[in-house]
Amino acid sequence: MNYTEIMVRYGELSTKGKNKRIFISLLATNIKKALHDFPKVKVHADRDRTHLILNGEDSSGVLEALKPIFGIQNFSPTIRVEKNMDVIYKTAVEMVKKNYAEGKSFKVNARRSDHEFEMDTNELNREIGYHVIQAIPEIEVKMKQPDIALRVEIRKDAAYLSCETILGAGGLPVGSSGRGMLMLSGGIDSPVAGYLAMKRGVEIEAVHFHSPPYTSQHALDKAKDLTVKLVPYVGSIQFIEVPFTEIQEEIKKNVDEGYLMTITRRFMMRITDEIREQRKGLAIINGESLGQVASQTLHSMIAINDVTATPVIRPVVAMDKNEIIEVAERIDTFELAIQPFEDCCTIFAPPKPKTKPRLDRAQALEAKLDVEGLVARAVAGITITEIQSGQTYLEGKSDEFDDLL
Ligand code: ATP
Ligand code: MG
Repeated sequence: MNYTEIMVRYGELSTKGKNKRIFISLLATNIKKALHDFPKVKVHADRDRTHLILNGEDSSGVLEALKPIFGIQNFSPTIRVEKNMDVIYKTAVEMVKKNYAEGKSFKVNARRSDHEFEMDTNELNREIGYHVIQAIPEIEVKMKQPDIALRVEIRKDAAYLSCETILGAGGLPVGSSGRGMLMLSGGIDSPVAGYLAMKRGVEIEAVHFHSPPYTSQHALDKAKDLTVKLVPYVGSIQFIEVPFTEIQEEIKKNVDEGYLMTITRRFMMRITDEIREQRKGLAIINGESLGQVASQTLHSMIAINDVTATPVIRPVVAMDKNEIIEVAERIDTFELAIQPFEDCCTIFAPPKPKTKPRLDRAQALEAKLDVEGLVARAVAGITITEIQSGQTYLEGKSDEFDDLL
């Protein structure tokens, strides 16, 4: 069956009042980006739905590419035909046949915006239904929750038929909530945090702290590969690598063991905030989950968050580890995240970090360090890579990879 177009419906976007137009045009831009492999598809964004005219492109590939796009409630492969009842009957029968299996029920759901059309909605329902039953006599008609709901829309320009509704990713179009800096480690939680922030419309850039030679190229590649997994939701992501060795060594040399973690996090937060400002971001996103480890207690959050007034969004803060893992598996970051490459915090992590660090103590300990200089040097040393889909960073290093496992 050759679908000629795909109809995209919005859901939550429809309630956005004055911003609705902006949201819809942003969604159209995101759809175009996601369909770069299907250059013939034309995207028409309307108030209530977006129409993708396939122009001969393969519908199954396009349907697949729409699944990760936030801001889409659901979508249907659709056939556009001329407004001739014989053609409509024939197409309706073909469509139901394609979706029919023994025992399945159906109904016709006709609508018309062209009120001059020869039949009204009731007649359309009855006549199209009649033709379907003629073609498949054993099919059951069911008004409530049928297995196959054949939608027929008679519009000014043509008739549109569809009978499959595919659930979209929900959420808001990426970018509609502005830009945020995702603090991305190589762990399970931060990629999930990034995914959830994007789902609510935040365009993310990934900030990753790296401490060679204490952390390996593998750890860096792993963080990049995790970023690759987040790319389908946006098209591409800027990966910002921050050299963190000097700071970690300084802290290790000068700070009491119990406060190593707190001070390290304060530096990470300051640097991320500085990068955010330079890159016109509005928020910082991290993967902290309340009570998960010592640095993620409320006392710790007070001591760490003290360095900035920027909103810090913690999408997984109230989730249990199992719930976070469930999402990580769904977005395919889990397997990668559990590969055992050391990240910069684990290496310098003290055996017993304080679960209740005091803010005044953290500030006093930091006074021994050249905070400004250290932050400025780290920010000056960043490397930015644009991560796109289909790239791999760890792959091809499988021998070394095996040695490490
Ligand atoms: P994750 O699974 O995201 O690594 P975690 O439970 O291991 O989280 P921590 O290591 O305590 O938690 O880190 C808390 C948060 O701090 C992370 O979720 C991440 O947002 C940020 N973070 C930690 N290490 C780094 C790093 N090397 N680069 C960037 N951000 C980091
Ligand atoms: Mg971690």
